[in-house]
Amino acid sequence: MDWSLLPKDDPYQALRIRRMLLASAAATMLVALTGVGAWLDFVPDVTFWRLAVIVVLLVGGFYACFRSGLNLRMPDPSLTAPMLVASGMAISIVQADAGEARSVLMLLYPVAFMFGVFRLRRWELVVMAVLFSVFYAVAIAASVWSYRMALDLRHEIFRVGFLTVVLMWFAYIGGNISAMRQRLRRANDELKIAFEKVETLANLDALTGVYSRRYLMALLEREGNRAERGSTLSIGMMDLDHFKSVNDSYGHACGDEVLKNFCVTAQGALREIDILGRYGGEEFVAVFPQTSGASAALVAERIRKLVAQSMVPCLRGEKQVTVSIGVAEHRSPDSVEHTLERADAAMFKAKSSGRNRVMLAD
Ligand code: GH3
Ligand code: MG
Ligand code: MG
Repeated sequence: MDWSLLPKDDPYQALRIRRMLLASAAATMLVALTGVGAWLDFVPDVTFWRLAVIVVLLVGGFYACFRSGLNLRMPDPSLTAPMLVASGMAISIVQADAGEARSVLMLLYPVAFMFGVFRLRRWELVVMAVLFSVFYAVAIAASVWSYRMALDLRHEIFRVGFLTVVLMWFAYIGGNISAMRQRLRRANDELKIAFEKVETLANLDALTGVYSRRYLMALLEREGNRAERGSTLSIGMMDLDHFKSVNDSYGHACGDEVLKNFCVTAQGALREIDILGRYGGEEFVAVFPQTSGASAALVAERIRKLVAQSMVPCLRGEKQVTVSIGVAEHRSPDSVEHTLERADAAMFKAKSSGRNRVMLAD
């Protein structure tokens, strides 16, 4: 059982309870003020005590409701409307025997209403304003009935009317605030989507659509940490052969075409768990998680073969693209950068021993 004031495991619930406690603090403050009024004989003692007992019961009741999770079964788990109705009723009960203090105690209505202004929609606030006025009128009617209180009807109608107008104005302003909150939430959502899009774009290479070097290095760092905890990891460094001559003979645009084609081919040969990224220029890196060097070399060989068989239209069948690949298995205390260097060295070995081949670093 968690006996702390706010739940630690549910931030939304903690926020709701914090809001409820803020309202309780306001209520306590007003009870204290009413106490001062009672002490100075401006407010009947019975009014003060009644208010104090009702506030304690409401605060305890609503806190229990939140803390037990009962509120989560309601359509609005913040319980704003029920709390408002309860406080409207409470204030009205106190009003019934407040006598001369009624006018000043009327200030309690807008204070309670304020808490709804930041949560409820305009029509809900209008309903709430009408309810508050009705509660007040009923309280006055009840006190006339039970205490045979002398009543100046014009005075009372003026009071109820004034209260209604003030609360309606609050409802109008509250509607604007709630529209503003909705706009803000929508703008926030759009911003979040845009941010995710930007982040994805930053992680992808603009030309080929495979992962960018930035993402690749971050991923390698993560995989390196995982390898430290005992899983295997292999890295493949791939470099297109004589790529410069493609640019020279067929133009830069054709070179771009070849790069894109290579990525599609390599991606098709890789397994679901492997990651392909552009290291720079015509150099690409494949990350093989949970894979030994020998197994990674088999996948690399599949890529090499498919690339050597692939056709790129702009080469008009005159030239075959090939790739040299160096594969290295990560060795645990090493850094991933070092493994990358070993893969690079193996790739150079593949180049110097004739290109279009896969070399496994020892
Ligand atoms: P090797 O077999 O030894 O790797 O020879 P190579 O010609 O592939 O290697 P080199 O490093 O001499 O040439 C790489 C070329 O790749 C040079 C550069 O102009 C070209 N290149 C780099 N990035 C791009 C690109 O985005 N598009 C195009 N079309 N060419 C690029
Ligand atoms: Mg190169
Ligand atoms: Mg090259």
